[in-house]
Amino acid sequence: MIKTDILIIGAGPTGLFAVFEAGLLKLKCHLIDALPQPGGQCSELYPKKPIYDIPAYPEILAGDLTDKLMEQCKQFEPGFTLGERADTIEKQDDGTFIVTTNKGTKHHAPVVAIAGGLGSFEPRKPLIDNLSDYEDKGVEYMIKEPEIYRGKKVVIAGGGDSALDWSIFLSDVAEEVTLIHRRNEFRGHLDSVEKVQELKSAGKINLITPAEVIGIEGDGKVEAVTIKQDAKTYKKECDHFVPLFGLSPKLGPIADWGLEIEKNSIKVNNALDYQTNIPGIYAIGDVNTYPGKLKLILCGFHEATLMCQSAYQIINPGKRYVLKYTTVAGVDGFDGTRKEAPKAVVKAIE
Ligand SMILES: Cc1cc2nc3c(=O)[nH]c(=O)nc-3n(C[C@H](O)[C@H](O)[C@H](O)COP(=O)(O)OP(=O)(O)OC[C@H]3O[C@@H](n4cnc5c(N)ncnc54)[C@H](O)[C@@H]3O)c2cc1C
Repeated sequence: MIKTDILIIGAGPTGLFAVFEAGLLKLKCHLIDALPQPGGQCSELYPKKPIYDIPAYPEILAGDLTDKLMEQCKQFEPGFTLGERADTIEKQDDGTFIVTTNKGTKHHAPVVAIAGGLGSFEPRKPLIDNLSDYEDKGVEYMIKEPEIYRGKKVVIAGGGDSALDWSIFLSDVAEEVTLIHRRNEFRGHLDSVEKVQELKSAGKINLITPAEVIGIEGDGKVEAVTIKQDAKTYKKECDHFVPLFGLSPKLGPIADWGLEIEKNSIKVNNALDYQTNIPGIYAIGDVNTYPGKLKLILCGFHEATLMCQSAYQIINPGKRYVLKYTTVAGVDGFDGTRKEAPKAVVKAIE
C-alpha cells in the first residue's frame, strides 16, 4: 500500500505543479497516470509545439514545460505510479481514501486531487479478434520499459511519431524491428521519416507498407503475427507486437465515483477550494467545471495552489498556516536541499 498526504490522479502540468505547492506546505504527493511518462497532454499530444501563454515564458515548448515542472517539483520527492489507470476509490471509516489502479496497485491518502485533464489516455486498438488474449503477453500499446525488447523480435504498427520514434530507438535494442503501416506515407516529423528510411537502407529496420497485421498466434504468448499486404497474407515470427495507433482520452472509471458530473467534467466549488461534492476529493485543471471555467494551463496552476491550502486544513486540522513568500521563507526540499535568497549583509558603516 502506497501512503501519501495528497494522492494526485493525473501527472499533467496541473498535477505536477500541485506537487510543488503541496511541498511548500510540507505535504507529500504521489501521482498516478495512465501514461508511461508525466506531462499529460503536453507530453503526449504536442511536446514539440510552442506555448505562448505561460506567465514569464514568452515561448516554451510543451515538452520543455514538462521538464521544467519536473525539475521544480523534484525536491519534494513525489512518488509516481505510471502506466496505470486509477479505477476505484473506497472511502474509509476515518474519512481517508484507498484508490486502486487497473493493475491492482493500492494507494492510501487523506486527500485525493483529481487532475485528470480530458481523462485517462486509452490506446486505440486494432481490430484483431484475439488481441485481448495477448495483452501483456507480448502485445503492448505503449512502451514503458524499452529494455524488455532487448534481443527480441518486435513488430510495431502505426504511421505517426510514436511508431517512427520507437522503431528508431528499438533498432539499437531489439534483435529485429519491423515497422508496418497501412499507407506508404507517414504522419510524422520529417527527420524521423528520413531516419527510418536510412535505417531501412542499412538493414536495421524492416519496413512493410502498405500492409496491416490481421492476426496473432502463439501458445500463451505472442509467437507470430499474420500480415496482409496487397492480396497476400503471410506469417512473421516475433516476440512482441506493439500497435501504436494513438491514444484517446476518456473520463473512464472516475465518472462512476459518485462525483457530480456536468458535460463530462467534474463540478467543483470554485468560490472556495475546488473541492467536489465528496469532501476530501478535489478536481483541478482541465478535468473540472464551474461558471467561467477556462481549460488553460495557468488556470490549472492557480487551482492547484488553492487546493493545497484547503488540503492542508484536512491533513492538519486546527493548525494555522501563514502564507509566506518563497523569496522570504526559501524552499526546503524533502531531499535535504534548501533554496533561499541571499541574506542582506549587516555591516557597520563608520
Ligand atoms: C494541441 C494543444 C495545444 C494546446 N495549447 C495550449 C496553450 O497554448 N496554452 C494553454 O494554456 N493550454 C494549451 N492546451 C491545453 C493544455 O494542454 C491543458 O489545459 C493542460 O494540459 C491541462 O493540464 P491538466 O494537468 O489539467 O490535464 P492533462 O494535461 O490532460 O493531464 C491529465 C493526465 O491525467 C491522466 N489521467 C486521467 N484520468 C486518469 C485515471 N483515471 N488514471 C490515471 N491517469 C489518469 C491522463 O493520462 C493525463 O496524463 C493545448 C492543448 C492541446 C491539445
